[in-house]
Amino acid sequence: MILVNEPLLDGNEKKYLVECIDTGWISSEGPFIKAFEEKMAAAVGRKYGIAVSNGSVAIDAAIVALGIGKGDEVIMPSFTIISCAAAVVRAGAKPVLVDSDPLTWNMDIDQVEAKITSKTKAIMVVHIYGLPVDMDPIFALAEKHGLKIIEDAAEIHGQTYKGRPAGSLGDISTFSFYPNKHITTGEGGMIMTDDEALANKCRSLRNLCFIPEKRFYHEELGFNFRMTNMQAALGLAQLERLDEFVVKKRRMGEQYTSLLQGVTGIQLPLEKTPYAENIYWVYGIVLNDDIPFDALEAMKRLGAEKIGTRPFFWPMHEQPVFHKMGLFVNEKYPVAERMARRGFYVPSGLALKSEQIDTVSAAVKKMLSK
Ligand SMILES: *Cc1c(COP(=O)(O)O)cnc(C)c1O
Repeated sequence: MILVNEPLLDGNEKKYLVECIDTGWISSEGPFIKAFEEKMAAAVGRKYGIAVSNGSVAIDAAIVALGIGKGDEVIMPSFTIISCAAAVVRAGAKPVLVDSDPLTWNMDIDQVEAKITSKTKAIMVVHIYGLPVDMDPIFALAEKHGLKIIEDAAEIHGQTYKGRPAGSLGDISTFSFYPNKHITTGEGGMIMTDDEALANKCRSLRNLCFIPEKRFYHEELGFNFRMTNMQAALGLAQLERLDEFVVKKRRMGEQYTSLLQGVTGIQLPLEKTPYAENIYWVYGIVLNDDIPFDALEAMKRLGAEKIGTRPFFWPMHEQPVFHKMGLFVNEKYPVAERMARRGFYVPSGLALKSEQIDTVSAAVKKMLSK
């Protein structure tokens, strides 16, 4: 079986983990946390990094830290992971959706302004599958309407937008270090900002809003979103290789494209846009409408050839859990709907070998030639 994702853990990961065991620092107290936060902040060009237990809760904390709550609205793409909308809903606010661009698969920035109301507090941009959102129009809208920008950078470590690091573009940004991301801590995430007050707020929220001078006395409700020293040890070792990993991902994406270019019936990821070159977090494929089967069937057929795949995101406006809350009922975002039904991705992990990319590409071609 060629797995859809296999991480690469052959740097200093083991050495740093053994250090945690040998020194006894296995909780969220321990030197690797601070080192990882500082190195990550330096890599992204941000002042503050707050390590948390995963990328989803990083968004929860960011929303709460910005003071977004009841009566507020946050504009975001329908085509994303549920973590984005869930954080807004849990805070008591309302996600307001836009459709996607059919070529970049990112939010359609031309649809954002029409969704801004007097209740809008923020725009949540989510960089999808390896290409950043075109940020300049978003910056202009945020400025014009006095909105915050929340940047979900979970899929885009090491990417840039017009030369600026992804993750440095929002008022607050969030990363995930799940094993399929460019760098992993097993489970883990980070909130990043240049705003000291926001950073302090996130640090407090992460640790149950304990007050240092008065332990077990609380003025606000927080969470236990702490990352362990062991996770940070992995993260530090991974971060040492981020540049190398991005080069490798680009090479993998380029190999897939060179093998699949010109195959009829499929749409491949864009190699570049005027503002960025793809880093192929995952290598996505969208079936054209004239292919007589959908993504689910394609994944089944590739599975029979021992090739792991994953479907594209299922849009937020088609989630039963939100319909039950009365959200997004009868809303339509045709591009996101089509991507969900026609899109899937092929093995894209950092441990994937060149011969395996050949095998996967041959299987995709065979499936389409029948
Ligand atoms: C992976 C991912 C997350 C969630 O990260 P977890 O660490 O799995 O909770 C959030 N947003 C996007 C866009 C992601 O791809």
